Amino acid sequence: MGRVYNFSAGPAVLPEEVLKEAAEDMLDYKGCGMSVMEMSHRSKMFDDIIKTAEADLRELLGIPDNYSVIFLQGGATLLFAGIPMNFLHKKAGYILTGQWATKAFKEAKKQGEAVELASSKDKTFSYIPDCSDLPITDDMDYVYICENNTIYGTKYHTLPNTKGVPLISDVSSCFLSEPMDVTNYAFVYAGVQKNVGPAGTQIAIVRNDFLTDDIKPYTPDVMNYKLMAEKESLLNTPPCWGIYICGLVFKWLKKNGGLTAMKEKNEKKAKLLYDYLDSSKLFKGTVRKEDRSIMNVPFVTGDDELNAKFVAESKAAGLENLKGHRTVGGMRASIYNAMPYEGVAKLVEFMEDFEKKNLK
Ligand SMILES: *Cc1c(COP(=O)(O)O)cnc(C)c1O
Repeated sequence: MGRVYNFSAGPAVLPEEVLKEAAEDMLDYKGCGMSVMEMSHRSKMFDDIIKTAEADLRELLGIPDNYSVIFLQGGATLLFAGIPMNFLHKKAGYILTGQWATKAFKEAKKQGEAVELASSKDKTFSYIPDCSDLPITDDMDYVYICENNTIYGTKYHTLPNTKGVPLISDVSSCFLSEPMDVTNYAFVYAGVQKNVGPAGTQIAIVRNDFLTDDIKPYTPDVMNYKLMAEKESLLNTPPCWGIYICGLVFKWLKKNGGLTAMKEKNEKKAKLLYDYLDSSKLFKGTVRKEDRSIMNVPFVTGDDELNAKFVAESKAAGLENLKGHRTVGGMRASIYNAMPYEGVAKLVEFMEDFEKKNLK
């Protein structure tokens, strides 16, 4: 069987060119006689890999010099705990727009005072709450958001008004899908297995003056972000393979016009799918229109049996991983950077055909 169109939410599709390059390099990386998986993280070879990856990421996002880039491990989930360890001194505000923000909130509450500022739970997280005038107070250390809600398919198109309090954002499922002004954040991070690389690597971008030695005394060194930044992510063995693949993806992004071009492509793909959903008599999108994500697109037929039939038949047609998250039901198409336009066109064609056959 050849490659399928993979609509998985994560780990997710990666650019075929990148996979081919990694395959070519597999046994003998650039003539050094070993693979990237086998080389010392203290070698000159790996030093080039991590430094180049960081430099390319800085170029793609225009990261200013007063921000550090850190490569971490443990999933975004470990950062849910690491963020309050490092930054929660008095109080933190959390905006709950889905499962990931809620999990992060729970971790913060274990460690100090965390306040729910707003939530969209009342409507199954199908919208982003109004964040223009939240009950944010001066004594808050940070406001936390999950910017693109992978499960529910919502995205903040305007960042919250934090009233001068530093903003921390989980951008796992929209990272590098479009340009991002890093200076809006004190700390912004992504698990790369959604849009950028293999599972096991996280990238955090942090304003240096937000890093402090005043952290929870029990913070493990590998979760001490100031120390990790000082050690340039090499306090211990980093996720070498993941960093290497991310580096190849950064090169791929640069070669393909950078993040402005990527945004244009992603918007075009999303428009094709949303326009069809808006015109369909069988399928409908689950998210309030103005809050739609261009990365994760959940949709339903309103009939569980028909949903299951759609998932099975689409799989047979080479359209994989369209089943929605268990908490939402229905379907979800994740259409990350590496999903070609043709993949979305094929999905829409399949949906049109399915609608004709199944509309009662
Ligand atoms: C997938 C995801 C997570 C969890 O990532 P893990 O690597 O499984 O810990 C957190 N936040 C967002 C937005 C995600 O999409």
